[in-house]
Amino acid sequence: MSRKADLLAVPDASGHFGEYGGRYVPETLVAPLEELAAEFAKAQKDPAFQHELKEMRRDFTGRPTPLYFAERLTQHCGGAKIYLKREDLLHTGAHKINNALGQVILARRMGKRRIIAETGAGQHGVATATMAARYGMECIIYMGEEDMRRQALNVTRMRLLGAKVVGVTAGQKTLKEAVNEAMRDWVTNVRTTHYVLGTAYGAHPYPYMVREFHKVIGEEARAQLMEREEKLPDVICACVGGGSNAIGIFYAFLNDQKVRLVGVEAGGEGIQPGRHAARFQGGKLGVLQGSKSFLLQNEDGQIELTHSVSAGLDYAAVGPEHCHLKEIGRAEYTYATDDEALAAFSNLGRIEGILPALETAHAVAFAMKEAPKMEKDQILLVNLSGRGDKDVNEAARFLLKA
Ligand SMILES: *Cc1c(COP(=O)(O)O)cnc(C)c1O
Repeated sequence: MSRKADLLAVPDASGHFGEYGGRYVPETLVAPLEELAAEFAKAQKDPAFQHELKEMRRDFTGRPTPLYFAERLTQHCGGAKIYLKREDLLHTGAHKINNALGQVILARRMGKRRIIAETGAGQHGVATATMAARYGMECIIYMGEEDMRRQALNVTRMRLLGAKVVGVTAGQKTLKEAVNEAMRDWVTNVRTTHYVLGTAYGAHPYPYMVREFHKVIGEEARAQLMEREEKLPDVICACVGGGSNAIGIFYAFLNDQKVRLVGVEAGGEGIQPGRHAARFQGGKLGVLQGSKSFLLQNEDGQIELTHSVSAGLDYAAVGPEHCHLKEIGRAEYTYATDDEALAAFSNLGRIEGILPALETAHAVAFAMKEAPKMEKDQILLVNLSGRGDKDVNEAARFLLKA
């Protein structure tokens, strides 16, 4: 087999990307996950499913998203041409709806009537509540009470869309605890219920399925860039929480070895225990919530506290495909700090008229550091994963101190 075929041919049948991923779950979830994997495989080969997905992408969520040449940012940085893939222009404001759309159509096909999901910053909850409303399904969103307080606007959006938002009071009252609650619900109600997991993480088939629903980002960007520039980008960067928007834009380029792929994690207040969420800086191999991957944990294997100014990157584990891509040297992973992300948020607003999500601002921060080191005829492609409306209060607190 050629090296070329190897890179796209993951995961294997057991859901492993190299040694990462897999299915580490209680016995009661094995059969439902197997059923989900089988139904997804059938759906992918079914023209009716693909047709519905295509029409809904075009007419409801708004694909293809534009590829935008950021001319003023390019001039400001003084190096490579910077292009932005505008996932922020999708319905509900981020890439997350690519996955929610696919999974809700799949759930309906499987005869499920009830949709559940976890959410951190609330973007995945809003995307799922939106798709559940569109298909007339009952929707329950689990969310840590601390996140409900920090992301009150998204809680209101979900409720207005008809979803029930259930506050989770365990532990740090954030995303990790919300995932546990959603898994508990799924075990109990699996006959009627589909769990829409929100990133390229968790037990097989989720990391694979979520990538398949997001890979359209890179496929479009590749075609759009070939049309505009008649060549591939030199560098592609994306922020990495669980890793769904990053793998979504990377996947179509995995076989193009000359294209440098860079994932940007949350460096928070700097790389010290409890002050960041950069799993590839100081993380160790472990198992959390169904998947083997890099985790921020202490000597005893206890999950460490994490911190980031962006709730969507604030998680102790990273998706297994990224662990694999790092290990084989196909992708690199760096980080941006809270301060760098806030500066990038401000710069993109003032220079290009685009307020990005704080998550996305981490990728923009990297781009602004990297572009000046590159030649003027080179191309740097940034995945603009979401818009900043949800973050204006938080950003104003730091940036508009009179
Ligand atoms: C949720 C979110 C992220 C992080 O999730 P990934 O699965 O790593 O993409 C990044 N950007 C935005 C706008 C988000 O809402």
